[in-house]
Amino acid sequence: MSDTITRLARANVQALTPYQSARRLGGNGDVWLNANEYPLPVPFELSQQTLNRYPECQPKRVIERYAAYAGLAPEQVLVSRGADEGIELLMRAFCEPGQDAILYCPPTYGMYSVSAETMGIACRTVPALDNWQLNMPAIAAALPGVKLVYMCSPNNPTGNLIDTDDIRQLLEMTRGKALVVADEAYIEFCPQATLANWIAEYPHLVVLRTLSKAFALAGLRCGFTLANPKVIELLLKVIAPYPLSTPVADIAAQALSADGIALMRSHVVELNANRSWLATALAALPCVRQVFPSETNYILARFNDAPRVFKTLWDQGIILRDQNKNPGLAGCLRISIGTRNECERLIAALQTLPGTVEQA
Ligand SMILES: *Cc1c(COP(=O)(O)O)cnc(C)c1O
Repeated sequence: MSDTITRLARANVQALTPYQSARRLGGNGDVWLNANEYPLPVPFELSQQTLNRYPECQPKRVIERYAAYAGLAPEQVLVSRGADEGIELLMRAFCEPGQDAILYCPPTYGMYSVSAETMGIACRTVPALDNWQLNMPAIAAALPGVKLVYMCSPNNPTGNLIDTDDIRQLLEMTRGKALVVADEAYIEFCPQATLANWIAEYPHLVVLRTLSKAFALAGLRCGFTLANPKVIELLLKVIAPYPLSTPVADIAAQALSADGIALMRSHVVELNANRSWLATALAALPCVRQVFPSETNYILARFNDAPRVFKTLWDQGIILRDQNKNPGLAGCLRISIGTRNECERLIAALQTLPGTVEQA
């Protein structure tokens, strides 16, 4: 009987594999290093008592504060239910299902393909080079029919920044044809690398941001799209009438106050220090084959026996993100940077593991 229901669904939805979020994958951990969250709660409290009223679509204070923080004008900023909603709004506004395509360069963030597949928009993939930079000739060849190029910098899950000369070349070759979407979910960990100040020069550049990572508010669900006012205007046509609840807007405004931004910057200093400690400690372990440099709050590492490492840690309540099945990432696990104590627990657990794969 349930089959008849399934057959009523759109064909692309029947075929869809939903995003395997860290939360969906479960685990019984007490050390959560699999979703790139900040490890501790932040001390915000609700200050508004207006739940009987509908919220503003684009809460003025949140927009103004984010614009000031990003060095842009308010009309260049859209706020949404996480950066994930921004990813999807762009497709809804710019891609004709069954006709236009998006392009991205795996290994990268999983939601670009999930959103596209949900809407019946074709995905064109151009695998990253061995050093995880863009394959420019292959991108140029794949561009016809593409409306949106998603480019994650620093990239999730590899942790590297994309070369700015390549990004410039990409913006030149897409001018008048496609938008380039720079996903800057982790930019607070390397703020000098932002492309937000390129928006004035490139009207087809879009930058995605979030409060989920350095701002420590993954549970809030609040993200930003930065772009030319024309792009923002189009996105405002397709966004829900009340995308943010009143409590979300309330907390987001506090997070973007001077104190809130100072708190975020203190997280960044702390996590960047923990990251360099962890990278050094990982590199010295026999079970680790390679530690990739990172500009973010996570580290990608290649292990001699990744399934065993993952399972051993899982059984001890330390939950990592398995990247083994991601293209080019055989043997790789992604480790979010937690508190120093969590980093130390991880290293202690890994020290018990041998250097080579043992024969069965
Ligand atoms: C976490 C993440 C997002 C999603 O951010 P939300 O604001 O929580 O939806 C987007 N892009 C990348 C690369 C991410 O890692």
